[in-house]
Amino acid sequence: MRFVIVGGGPAGNTAATSAARLGATVTMIERDVVGGAAHLWDCIPSKTMIATGGAMSFLRRSTGMGLEQASPEVDTGALTARIEDIKSHLQHGTSELLSSQGVRMVRGTARFTGPNTVLVDGVDGSEEIAFDNALVATGSRPRIPEWCQPDGDRILTTRDCYPPKVFPASVTVIGSGVTGVEFVHMFSSFAAKVTLVVSRQQVLPGKDPEVAAVLEDDFLRRGVHLLKGARATAIDRDPDGDGVVVRCDDGRVVRSSHAVLAIGSVPNSDGLDLDAAGVDTDDGGYIPIDHNCVTTAAHIYAAGDVSGKLPLSSVAAMQGRKVAERLMGLHSRQHRHLDYDKAASAIFTEPEIADVGLAEAEAFASGRKIRVTKVPFSATPKALINNDPRGFVKIVSDPATGVVLGGSIVGRHAAELISVIALAVTANLKVSDIVESLLVHPALSEALAEAAE
Ligand SMILES: Cc1cc2nc3c(=O)[nH]c(=O)nc-3n(C[C@H](O)[C@H](O)[C@H](O)COP(=O)(O)OP(=O)(O)OC[C@H]3O[C@@H](n4cnc5c(N)ncnc54)[C@H](O)[C@@H]3O)c2cc1C
Repeated sequence: MRFVIVGGGPAGNTAATSAARLGATVTMIERDVVGGAAHLWDCIPSKTMIATGGAMSFLRRSTGMGLEQASPEVDTGALTARIEDIKSHLQHGTSELLSSQGVRMVRGTARFTGPNTVLVDGVDGSEEIAFDNALVATGSRPRIPEWCQPDGDRILTTRDCYPPKVFPASVTVIGSGVTGVEFVHMFSSFAAKVTLVVSRQQVLPGKDPEVAAVLEDDFLRRGVHLLKGARATAIDRDPDGDGVVVRCDDGRVVRSSHAVLAIGSVPNSDGLDLDAAGVDTDDGGYIPIDHNCVTTAAHIYAAGDVSGKLPLSSVAAMQGRKVAERLMGLHSRQHRHLDYDKAASAIFTEPEIADVGLAEAEAFASGRKIRVTKVPFSATPKALINNDPRGFVKIVSDPATGVVLGGSIVGRHAAELISVIALAVTANLKVSDIVESLLVHPALSEALAEAAE
């Protein structure tokens, strides 16, 4: 079976290695680098910079741990080198894995020329490749509104922020979703004066208000200026200086050295000639898929950001794996459909925020009866030892059966700790299963066991 994959991000890579392992003849076409946007611009560089910023703020707070005052300074060159090292290490590892599984990698830009063919415009000329099945995993790119033209120098998209040429003295971030708040956190960790333009009255619209409130408190403590209820309508270079001027619809104006757009993304579906293969897109350019990731053409799949589901690397990779399993006939035996409502996600701010499954507000809105238990980390010995008692664990369960339906964690290592609740939600475990697990002491996970009581 000839399986062609367009795009080498988390969706494409995972599909390629899983399908090859199960016996498919796999060709993966990638125009840029294996690892995709996730490695090049999104997850890896952003989290590497956030980790350095986190180390700096941890050191600044370490006086409470019996240490002398530490005042670390960032070395931009060393940080850039570190980002590049991590990226190339991961890219190398991914390429090795793909070749060890016998995946043929073709470097170039692909487009469909018929229901069973793609044409690759590559560095070594063009090549037509025939397939029995194909996967479109071409990802997405930052959305650029018509009212602003990024210049890569002062008016930036999230992709222009790495490697950091300079750290902005002051920055206005437009967009208060997950990406926006992570950039606010990152720049403020490096001592920039940050303004966040928040179109509603709450950062992270759609998240549990209690969770958003903890983050807003941290932003205010750091001196971040929150411009609530405002929509940016223009960003221009400042005629009176080196910086930029951001204008909002309510007349407010913000001046800063840089501005960063974090207002979502658009799918990379243009230029693929999907019509030739019988694959439809919706009005936003996303490729609609069914619960098996099948597009409007029964032999062609789509996965990752381009499919318009949850724009997360972890979800993209799981979709890729499910596609490979279905393709190779595993679905009849052990294949479980992907349930997007059970995807864990995290926001790498300080404190970290992570959640999974049913949210309290969502349950109340739908009138569903739930039991909510909440334990603050301040009651946990390890949080006190860590000198960081901020945040809490919240578990949502079914009052009749005790089955865990969801949860959120705000606090140090929330992104790691949420795995316990994610496993419980996926495997339909009960709160009693968490309570009866013999966990480590002293550890932050003790708050999980207590919240499950
Ligand atoms: C700033 C930022 C931070 C993020 N952090 C996280 C995080 O911490 N955790 C998380 O889970 N998610 C995170 N995400 C989301 C995550 O990056 C995406 O969900 C993920 O990259 C999607 O993977 P993908 O496989 O769909 O596409 P991508 O990673 O975008 O890969 C698609 C690949 O397809 C290639 N391609 C496109 N068109 C063609 C063509 N015609 N021919 C050949 N190749 C083509 C591209 O070059 C690209 O390499 C973040 C996003 C942003 C913007």
